[in-house]
Amino acid sequence: MLAEHDKLAREATARDEPYDAYLLRLTELEVAARSANAVAARIRAAGFPVVKDLDTFDFTACPALPRQRVLELARGEWVCQRFNCCLIGGSGTGKTHVATAIGLALCRAGRRVRFVTAAGLVTELEEAQQEHRLDRTLTALDRLDLLIVDELGYLSFSRPGAELLFQVFADRYERRSLLVTSNLPFGEWGTVFQGERMTAALLDRLTHKCHIFEMNGESYRFRESMKATADKTAKPKK
Ligand code: ADP
Ligand code: MG
Repeated sequence: MLAEHDKLAREATARDEPYDAYLLRLTELEVAARSANAVAARIRAAGFPVVKDLDTFDFTACPALPRQRVLELARGEWVCQRFNCCLIGGSGTGKTHVATAIGLALCRAGRRVRFVTAAGLVTELEEAQQEHRLDRTLTALDRLDLLIVDELGYLSFSRPGAELLFQVFADRYERRSLLVTSNLPFGEWGTVFQGERMTAALLDRLTHKCHIFEMNGESYRFRESMKATADKTAKPKK
């Protein structure tokens, strides 16, 4: 309002606009600026590694992933219903890209989102526990509408680490949404969580109300770098 009131007042005078119309226009500008700032703040707070959108995702390169269903997820209804989402697939198949894009869409829709890697989250929880502030960390996680846990499966955890992660997942069950990406099919999650019983209990809760996508196929990264190499080594046309 401070930035715009002078200019709008001059315009209003020139147009012989009544005072209430001027005030309305000024207030609308303030409201729009505040909501844009709030979106930007939510995106910053989410901590995406790189900000990526669905419009740069090539669905034809990933035929296993139905475009319509992903667009539907980006609308966020599933988060209101406390559903979860799992993206399972090999390295480079676009899991992080899609998870980020869905998270970004939810930030824009006014949801509180956080993006973490599984290893980063476990480290954060372990540190919080050592420093006797685990409760506070868990409460902060609990306030999120969507917690995105990326890269479950690349590193396995110590038993206490796995238990902390289990606690977060179990706490969210039917209350808050999770989006988990993993390179491991569910059958192999036991290797990460140490112990079949904890794995079974965790999978049971995670997948009970869950949108599951298998994103198998060739690595997009690998394909792009092969294409670049082929372009470089291709003989120039005469
Ligand atoms: P993952 O997390 O499954 O290992 P990423 O999402 O990190 O894979 O994808 C690797 C790279 O390839 C990223 O730069 C990503 O933006 C890009 N990428 C992957 N799949 C696609 C796709 N279908 N369309 C456009 N870019 C893609
Ligand atoms: Mg990834």
